[in-house]
Amino acid sequence: MSERPDATPDGYCTNTEPVPGTIRTINASATGPKFSHLHGRRYAQCPCGKETSLTGRDNLRRHKQPQE
Ligand SMILES: [Zn+2]
Repeated sequence: MSERPDATPDGYCTNTEPVPGTIRTINASATGPKFSHLHGRRYAQCPCGKETSLTGRDNLRRHKQPQE
């Protein structure tokens, strides 16, 4: 497992750089109509282990690091 990025005291990850090669686009037809609002949304993995959605500029959205 790679080194974790820093987190703020309230548990938020400070990293916004996605792990290269982990970016994927949600295909809502595979998840059903309940998740159609996610269609076309792009996700990527953070080095902290969390998968989160991307902003328009391919930065990771603010997210909490997973608890162990
Ligand atoms: Zn993270």
